[in-house]
Amino acid sequence: MRFSRLRLNGFKSFVDPTDLVIHEGLTGVVGPNGCGKSNLLEALRWVMGENRPTAMRGGGMEDVIFAGTATRSARHFAEVVLTIDNQDRLAPSGFNDADQLEIVRRITRDAGSAYKANTRDVRARDVQMLFADASTGAHSPALVRQGQIAELINAKPKSRRRILEEAAGISGLYQRRHEAELRLQATEQNLARVDDVLEQLA
Ligand code: ATP
Repeated sequence: MRFSRLRLNGFKSFVDPTDLVIHEGLTGVVGPNGCGKSNLLEALRWVMGENRPTAMRGGGMEDVIFAGTATRSARHFAEVVLTIDNQDRLAPSGFNDADQLEIVRRITRDAGSAYKANTRDVRARDVQMLFADASTGAHSPALVRQGQIAELINAKPKSRRRILEEAAGISGLYQRRHEAELRLQATEQNLARVDDVLEQLA
């Protein structure tokens, strides 16, 4: 499972459709200050399910939509498409039935975000789990922000453990365990309520 292309449309400074072709090996992005290098990395995080506006250097999620300049009006939506080469069929089950996977995230002003996987509507959670199971994703330690190395050095042991878990490819399991625990709690509460009702009827 290899990322092969990132397409941005109306995302931050990338107002016109722009393709970043990711070849095998190392890809470097160079350019003057403010040309949009960090925006590219943020687009990658965003399409993988990032939901914290602060991680996108914004106050709200709609801040990723092109805000307009003196010469161009603002856009109403932003879209990022991540193309994944899946010829080796390493994508997790549910996604691994095609040679190529296209994950699309689109945000429209006042209407929120929607995701698609090969034209099929999917939930944010499905996309987040896809990348978590593949040991990558919006929080992957492989995506290094400016200042992140200093943060890592000063991090508490619990945060460092999360990075190791991510690298070991078990963060998807932790997410599932957390969700299972929440469902268990809800079921226990329902059972307690049923007991109350039975007691009243007795
Ligand atoms: P540096 O080398 O200084 O870190 P960079 O190449 O990483 O810069 P970015 O930080 O990715 O550049 O891009 C910043 C540019 O993106 C700024 O010009 C900013 O105005 C523009 N930008 C950010 N959000 C939006 C938006 N919603 N609409 C339009 N432009 C935006």
